[in-house]
Amino acid sequence: MPDSAQSSVNGPLMQTQPYGVSPVSPPVSAPVAPASVPPPSVVTPAPISPAPVPSPVPQATVSAPAQGSLDQEDLTLLDTLISQNSLTPPQAVELKNRSALEGKSIEEILTNTKMLPEEKIAEAKARVLGVPYISLATTSFSPQAISLLPRAVVERFALVPFFYDERAQTISVAMANPVDLDAIEFVRQKTGMSVRAFAASPTDVQSAINQQYRQALVGEVGAAIKENEEFSGKKRVVDSTQIAQLIKEAPIAKIVSTILEFAVTSRSSDIHIEPQEDHVRVRYRIDGILSDKLSLPKNVQEALVSRIKILSDLKIDEHRTPQDGRFNFKIGNEEVDLRISILPTVNGEKIVMRLLRKSGGIPTMQDLGLNGLALKHLEDSITRPHGIILVTGPTGSGKTTTLYAILSKLNTPKVNIMSLEDPVEYQIAGVNQVQINTAIGLTFASGLRAFLRQDPNIILVGEIRDKETTDLALQAALTGHLVFSTLHTQTASGALPRLLDLGAESFLLASTITAIVGQRIVRKICSTCKETYVPSPQILATIKQILGPLYTSKDEDVRLYRGKGCNECGGTGYKGRVGIYEVLPVSDKIGQIILSHPDSVSIEKQAVLEGMTTMMQDGYLKVLKGVSSIEEVLRVAKE
Ligand SMILES: [Zn+2]
Repeated sequence: MPDSAQSSVNGPLMQTQPYGVSPVSPPVSAPVAPASVPPPSVVTPAPISPAPVPSPVPQATVSAPAQGSLDQEDLTLLDTLISQNSLTPPQAVELKNRSALEGKSIEEILTNTKMLPEEKIAEAKARVLGVPYISLATTSFSPQAISLLPRAVVERFALVPFFYDERAQTISVAMANPVDLDAIEFVRQKTGMSVRAFAASPTDVQSAINQQYRQALVGEVGAAIKENEEFSGKKRVVDSTQIAQLIKEAPIAKIVSTILEFAVTSRSSDIHIEPQEDHVRVRYRIDGILSDKLSLPKNVQEALVSRIKILSDLKIDEHRTPQDGRFNFKIGNEEVDLRISILPTVNGEKIVMRLLRKSGGIPTMQDLGLNGLALKHLEDSITRPHGIILVTGPTGSGKTTTLYAILSKLNTPKVNIMSLEDPVEYQIAGVNQVQINTAIGLTFASGLRAFLRQDPNIILVGEIRDKETTDLALQAALTGHLVFSTLHTQTASGALPRLLDLGAESFLLASTITAIVGQRIVRKICSTCKETYVPSPQILATIKQILGPLYTSKDEDVRLYRGKGCNECGGTGYKGRVGIYEVLPVSDKIGQIILSHPDSVSIEKQAVLEGMTTMMQDGYLKVLKGVSSIEEVLRVAKE
């Protein structure tokens, strides 16, 4: 699900650059903003050595333009901005006048007054100068390029390298001033390579420097790769006995720990290490969406896989069957449990590492996005001494997190809480958490049976998916326990028909189930680059239709929100996640429906009559509040 979601979201589809392959066009990712940049292949990027590049070098007239006369560059910049519809002709005239009056260049005025976004100016300027433009927020950086230039150099010249072409011996550099010939020459001498200059906005360059040189994922991995090449360059053929030696070597260990550290600091839930034909792709799942972050040379693949196998106690010489393992990783005070899955693919063994954080606070129900009547109904039902509370939704909809939030609220020394999970994702002190292990017959059903002999008050069963577990859960609730579980259904109202399908007796359901939660999880708009816009009439009509009586705004006042994409959010426009919820209390009337004609439509209709806000309505309310975007809510609604 999340993979297909990736392409429908406005997130960057970052391109990973294979090493040693010369790209036909420069490695520029698709621009985020619509209608901004022409595809890079349209502008011919000139390789810059030794001939100085971008032709229209600043004229000698640059300094202070004489009163009333603008230099050629300024005029062309104005024309370009008009042709891009960034400025209207009257605005251009006004700018010309101001420029003449204040004796400042057009660019200066535009920048100082913030009349246009900095990226727009940089992009137009690039066109005037005949230099390709690059939007850095959506570019993936090559570790080797970063490792070629130290931070002091990039700071001094306000530039940042992002791509390195080994075969063509060129380095691609984004520059705040792409016609700074001194800088280009310096980089050429320092790296011994031809330089391809790209224009980028000064702010973009600075944040890219901060990010790339601080987060150290790309930088440190790059340095380690270089070290590793020096090491393995001596012996070109490495046999399996040498591999064991090689993987103990610092560089590979360093690459692995840097990859892990980045996962922790970037709030990733999974790391994918995927061998491709000519390179190894490293992707991270951040806020539920996979994103390309790193491209490693093919020659480190085997050592990398072996290193991870050693850490997780797996067979190094087994390359043909899938393997599972785990290990712990500590960064600062945070301890992370990693579950490793290795699967042979045609290009080599693919590794997925799932991060299970041991420490770190469990969010409250409010933190998760529960509020209003939904929160009240849920709180009412969890404070009863017995009954069943179900949480529904597809895989990855945050059901477990909701249950953890509930359990930690109920977790006091006075109650015995027992939970049966697969996997145990967080450890909660004071809760007896048991890991399912089907290999030895510890299933949800057998575990639940054992639980009932352990004098529990509150029981969590990770999932109900068969008759046996259903019956045991009902039994437990009838004998005075508070039971929590999850079900894979689209909506809260779908849970009751599902349990009947699994063979539950309708009168037992009506008397034991107290509340059903339906949920999805959406990404939150990045607060750093959040902006408002006026929705189209069609969108507004949909919002009004879905919200019905919950819609209380005046049409003309409605503004929606979106993230422009910045370095804070990796260019995606989103940072963090929040749930959208519906909480269905099983009232007397709904109990009667279960007994007579238990279809989900009638159940939902009755619940709405009794005041339930549906999941979609909750989503749209969060869109109106600017918590998430309409695209996000529509994306998860399809799940
Ligand atoms: Zn942002």
